[in-house]
Amino acid sequence: MSNAIENPVNASLLSDLDRQHVFHPFTALGSHERDGAPIVMTHAEGVMMHDSQGRDYIDAMAGLWCVNVGYGREEIANAMRDQAMELSYCHAFSSMASDKPAILAGRLIEMAPVPMSKVFFGNSGSDANDTQAKLVWYYNNVRGKPAKKKIIARQRGYHGVTVMSAGMTGLPGLHAGFDLPLSFIKHTMAPHRLWEGHGLSDAEFVAKLVDDLEQLIAREGADTIGAMIMEPVMGAGGVIVPPQGYYEAIQSVLDRHDILLIADEVICGFGRLGSMFGCQAMGMKPDLITVAKGLTSAYFPLSACMVSDKVWQVLVAGGDRFGAFGHGYTYSSHPVGAAAALASLDLLEKENLVEQAGRRGEHLHRRLQAAFADHPLVGEIRGFGLIGAIELVADRDAPKAFDPALKVAPRIVSAARDRGIISRALPASDSLAFSPPFVITEAQIDRVVEGVREAVDEVAAELKASGDW
Ligand code: PMP
Repeated sequence: MSNAIENPVNASLLSDLDRQHVFHPFTALGSHERDGAPIVMTHAEGVMMHDSQGRDYIDAMAGLWCVNVGYGREEIANAMRDQAMELSYCHAFSSMASDKPAILAGRLIEMAPVPMSKVFFGNSGSDANDTQAKLVWYYNNVRGKPAKKKIIARQRGYHGVTVMSAGMTGLPGLHAGFDLPLSFIKHTMAPHRLWEGHGLSDAEFVAKLVDDLEQLIAREGADTIGAMIMEPVMGAGGVIVPPQGYYEAIQSVLDRHDILLIADEVICGFGRLGSMFGCQAMGMKPDLITVAKGLTSAYFPLSACMVSDKVWQVLVAGGDRFGAFGHGYTYSSHPVGAAAALASLDLLEKENLVEQAGRRGEHLHRRLQAAFADHPLVGEIRGFGLIGAIELVADRDAPKAFDPALKVAPRIVSAARDRGIISRALPASDSLAFSPPFVITEAQIDRVVEGVREAVDEVAAELKASGDW
């Protein structure tokens, strides 16, 4: 190995090394191979990231909606270090246990938004949602209902990328090229007002969404459907906040048909919506809850499935019928992950960060409204708590999207990044998302919105000049 590779101090060498050897997720393979120019981040603290060329950025996305307590928190780093020295690893198979996962599980059960009985630890949101689907299957096998296995998810929903989770995900870009979706996963309409409910009252919109679900259940047969999975506020699909009364109405349909509800709290959990869980903000009463990201603020890959007593009692009643429960990961109940989670939860509590996320969110929404409510390129401003999005449209009045080939949102993201702001273009339509760490200040939010406004104006001018708008 050359000395340069062992000690890659030079910024452009780092970028070249990355391009030559790293297979990037969610990256256009062809164009990246041809002319990708990775920005190599070297350090971060609070909400600020710094790259190898000395440029600074406000990370208005908290990574991928996950670094909730901010970068560089000594308390979490110390907890992880101490745990790694004390007990760096201990699995949880065959009744093995260690202290931190037990303490964390107890704490999660205590915090849960609806009564929960058990916690199953995993490594990522994707594998946790796979676990949930398997729990639903196991549950219905124990109940003697082997046909009740289909899963309902929503168009635009994001649940991960493992085969089952990608199947539940309702974004065509995650299915293309992978022989997905799966035949036993069915998608119903997303509560996306701009594209599905324009001009409708909340009540009319809820009725339309419920009707779509009822029709799907009638077509498939309720006795073939095991569960429905939903994000309280849909994240990657567009930061979609449902209309008033939506969850109550959906929940009553599910209850009537004996269909379990899985709340995918991977983004919303641990404060993003200004309450500890999204279920509290949205009034959901799930049987199963998935958490990840904010559980450790992404200091360690850790996820958890919370299981209600209703489901747990059935699983237990199955006893040893299928032998030992044949599911679990090498890293399930990882003690270093649990230590990171406990330290992150301590910070949330000690610094009142959940409440702060709610307040900062109000500021973000006020600023987004002030900057974009009258902007001709912006068709909708959405958000709840400290998560928000703007959707770019070719026509606001009779809503019309831009040709995806124009890459309007990605161009704005890039123009904003040139101004030191990291936001994110979402895959389903031309939306730009904001989901900063809870420690962002009001002044930093102002800088984010100002930078993005300049970026939107720049791209709007380009679209005018090229005759595309
Ligand atoms: N569910 C939701 C709601 C998510 O936002 C994500 C990740 N963005 C996932 C599941 C998958 O999590 P992971 O990337 O950790 O597998």
